[in-house]
Amino acid sequence: MTAISIQDLNVYYRTAKKHVHACRDISLDILKSDSLGIVGESGSGKSTLALAVLRLLPPNIAKVTGSAFYGKHDLISTDIKTLNGLRWKEIAIIFQKSMNSLSPVHKISNQMISIYRVHEPDTDLAHIKERIFELFDLVNLPDRVYNLYPHELSGGMMQRVSIAVSLLHNPKVLIMDEATTALDVVTQGQILKEIIALEGKLALSRVMITHDISVVASTCNRIAVMYAGALMELGQVKDVLVEPQHPYTRALKRSFPSFRGEKTALRGIPGKLPDLSVENKGCMFKDRCSYATEICKEVIPPCKNVSNNWQVYCHHAGELHD
Ligand code: ATP
Ligand code: MG
Repeated sequence: MTAISIQDLNVYYRTAKKHVHACRDISLDILKSDSLGIVGESGSGKSTLALAVLRLLPPNIAKVTGSAFYGKHDLISTDIKTLNGLRWKEIAIIFQKSMNSLSPVHKISNQMISIYRVHEPDTDLAHIKERIFELFDLVNLPDRVYNLYPHELSGGMMQRVSIAVSLLHNPKVLIMDEATTALDVVTQGQILKEIIALEGKLALSRVMITHDISVVASTCNRIAVMYAGALMELGQVKDVLVEPQHPYTRALKRSFPSFRGEKTALRGIPGKLPDLSVENKGCMFKDRCSYATEICKEVIPPCKNVSNNWQVYCHHAGELHD
């Protein structure tokens, strides 16, 4: 069962000189009760994809085409009233820079109460307070945070407040954009464990955007690998990270240490991301790919099914040996 179905999504940032084509023909489903990790190096379009799906990129900043259906509503084109009814309540996002998203002049308590009341204006204060303390417990924040201002919190505490805010209404889909990266590993582990426990209870779909494939390996069922705005590979973690079919996924895997098995030398990926403000033909990874041939320079790789729930975008998938 699908929670959000993204089809042919393209995002073009408007800049003074040229458009930056930050997401290219992305089609992917976020499933119900899914845990999907979206990985890719810095600048590959992970945050852009999440922002576009929630329509958080104003039209003067970016042009978005394609669709993202949540039930019968296309989040990209539905009216603002419907969108506002879904955003935060059904689909919540924790931003990469959420530390900056709280107002500096109001106490955490007042901000959380007003956010709660946007969707449920008639709820009494005692009930909201109870929910806030329940969430503080969940993310391991002391009760005294309720009466503090954002500047009185550490970066990690702020991040935990943002996680609590995102869970206020028990969303169905939670998008975490590097949400726990700034936390120490113990707290990160604790929070992820709690959220994973919640998933079972609430049928929550979690999308984890991260650079760190080891976090995806340990906390997600599925993985989407992005490079320079394009999807490279999509499938079950147990398939994609064990036997990657795309040369980029293979390279990405080799650039992370393995927890098990023999120690092998880590290898970076030579070269850098292509310029997204110029026209790029063919495969986005071609300039760094040791398998690239003429066709890769000219033709966008089609989506190939390795199996029913495993897709790869590479002309040479199935021919790789290394
Ligand atoms: P990171 O892992 O560093 O967070 P990311 O994968 O989330 O990277 P995005 O932030 O989505 O990457 O950026 C994708 C591309 O879009 C990059 O080339 C970036 O420079 C460009 N970009 C992002 N925001 C804007 C903007 N407001 N205007 C123009 N270009 C932008
Ligand atoms: Mg990002």
